[in-house]
Amino acid sequence: MVIAIDGPAGSGKSTIAKMLAKRLGFRYLDTGAMYRALTWKAIQNGTNLGDKDALCQLMDQTKIEFQDIYGNLDVFVDGINVTKEIRLPSVTNNIHYISDTPGVRQRMVMLQQKFASEGNTVAEGRDMGTVVFPRAEKKFFLDADVEERARRRYTEFAPANKKVSYNDVIKDIETRDKRDTTRDNSPLVKGSDAVYIDTTKLTIEEVFNMILKEIEHIIKN
Ligand code: C5P
Repeated sequence: MVIAIDGPAGSGKSTIAKMLAKRLGFRYLDTGAMYRALTWKAIQNGTNLGDKDALCQLMDQTKIEFQDIYGNLDVFVDGINVTKEIRLPSVTNNIHYISDTPGVRQRMVMLQQKFASEGNTVAEGRDMGTVVFPRAEKKFFLDADVEERARRRYTEFAPANKKVSYNDVIKDIETRDKRDTTRDNSPLVKGSDAVYIDTTKLTIEEVFNMILKEIEHIIKN
């Protein structure tokens, strides 16, 4: 069984997906982390980010794994723990090269479907309900105003990175939104069968309860 959660950066989907996986006893699949992981490796290797064939080749030579370390899902690339590194701006700002490469996406989709074939999964990303798991048991699309999403990201990162201003964060999110929604390959769109939740004025608990209500039938069975 798969529960698909899509939405833009800062919509709350990672927090909710993790909470939901824990509550249901499902596995948690963070597909954004997979695109981040390959971006990290491409930068590390000095791969030409504009060369789509080279990116596909790199993907074929790369092992991306998740491991539960003390309750946190850590990300490994070829055995190296890159959980922190893949969140750096240098990675975030270059992901679009990777996520807009059809051959890479095809390979990612296969890995993601394989992951879910091995156990019940809560999967989060941009194309979970539309492309990767079209037959998911339940699909959600989480959203929020860009100002609120930037505020959430800013409060998350500001203590560790004092050089970043709120205005920088909002600009980054707007750029990423534009790239993610207008790219040719699997753009971020709400599928007609996904439950839309605007989280702008909601607390995490409120969103979580709304989701639990939508999947009551799954919990009961
Ligand atoms: O979810 P997260 O912000 O970590 O995703 C980082 C980037 O990875 C997104 O902005 C998007 O370009 C890409 N992505 C994607 N498809 C997914 C998940 C993430 O294209 N399923």
